Amino acid sequence: MIKQQQLCVLGSTGSIGVSTLDVVARHPERYGIFALTAHSQVEKLAAQCAQFRPQVAVVGTASAAEQLTALLKQSNLPGIQVHYGPQALCEVASANECDSVMAAIVGAAGLPASLAAARAGKKVLLANKEALVMSGDLFIDAIKRSGAALLPIDSEHNAIFQCLPHNYDGRPQQHGIHKILLTASGGPFLHRDIDSLTHVTPEEAIAHPNWVMGRKISIDSASMMNKGLEVIEAHWLFATPAEQIEVVIHPQSVVHSMVSYNDGSVLAQLGNPDMRTPIAYGLAYPERIASGVAPLDILKIGHLNFEAPDFKRFPCLALAYAALQTGLSAPTILNASNEIAVQAFLDGKIGFRMIDQIIARTLERLPASPVHDLDSILACDQEARVIASALIAA
Ligand code: NDP
Repeated sequence: MIKQQQLCVLGSTGSIGVSTLDVVARHPERYGIFALTAHSQVEKLAAQCAQFRPQVAVVGTASAAEQLTALLKQSNLPGIQVHYGPQALCEVASANECDSVMAAIVGAAGLPASLAAARAGKKVLLANKEALVMSGDLFIDAIKRSGAALLPIDSEHNAIFQCLPHNYDGRPQQHGIHKILLTASGGPFLHRDIDSLTHVTPEEAIAHPNWVMGRKISIDSASMMNKGLEVIEAHWLFATPAEQIEVVIHPQSVVHSMVSYNDGSVLAQLGNPDMRTPIAYGLAYPERIASGVAPLDILKIGHLNFEAPDFKRFPCLALAYAALQTGLSAPTILNASNEIAVQAFLDGKIGFRMIDQIIARTLERLPASPVHDLDSILACDQEARVIASALIAA
């Protein structure tokens, strides 16, 4: 008989959270829900609680918690404990009752709870790439010390994980790895006239050609900062230097990434662009379970195209490579200023082409410094946010 895994889904009301619960609902004998968390979408969380009956639900604020408690009472679900705030997120992510944590909060807000899960030795299913970008060394060290399992959920990193040798021990040279080929769709602006990018609207930027995702990652995909963050993520996950991580534009989003070996072999993972595949892989690893994703019809796809990225069109990608080369707190500054700039773009305060400029100027103003612990990373994150916000206000 399979032992039921108890899951904590951080960010259950988001795009990844909803896809995770979709996979979980297909395998009730394998997965139980210990905790669900959201920030402000209280009604959606209440509906998820009614379906999945977690022991604990966490929201962002005291008033959201009051609202959720009332909704759960109305639905006759008084047994579910309701908590709120960042500390409660860390507590559910590290609780004894929980075996696996889906880290799917968006942005820096997810770092403390993702790190708490890593420190507590959980099976960590990492979607929240920003957490790893900000805290690379610290996060990987926490995983190693606690003996936690770290499974990448980002489709590209999940693909790379699948294409690496089973005994991969974080030493690319020893395993004959030549390069990691990180594929990128190029987003909605791949072939649009560069000059017109100044005037694109948030709606145009969010309209990704292949993937349906949350708002922030959709804008990151349009600017290719998403790929930049993924380069940094791949560096930490697979202990691979920046020079051995090559971004390849592949507009169909069918090849999710590849690993090129010294003997000339290139291994790729293919599939339909649906996050339930990497989620199911992470949940069941090392087994394979049904995810609800249709099998890939390779004949219908017909062609797979690849091209080199244009760093002039996508300056965010160059900024991310540079931040990885600089190291220290540069990736934290890059991530924080990007989050502020993306929000300002979504709020209509700046144009699309200002995003990379705000990030570049923040990186110029705030020199990279050593960051050794969570407090210094969060302090640097705050400092970068203040600078980026001031640049936007100016
Ligand atoms: P969404 O915006 O759809 O969802 C974000 C989730 O985080 C929601 O549950 C939201 O709650 C919660 N949240 C937002 N702010 C806070 C906060 N301050 N404190 C606690 N919880 C918060 O994001 P996605 O699902 O698209 O992305 C989640 C993560 O996964 C990101 O790091 C992204 O880069 C990564 N990822 C996403 C992919 C995708 O296909 N969507 C693919 C690969 C990686 P509420 O709903 O209440 O606001």
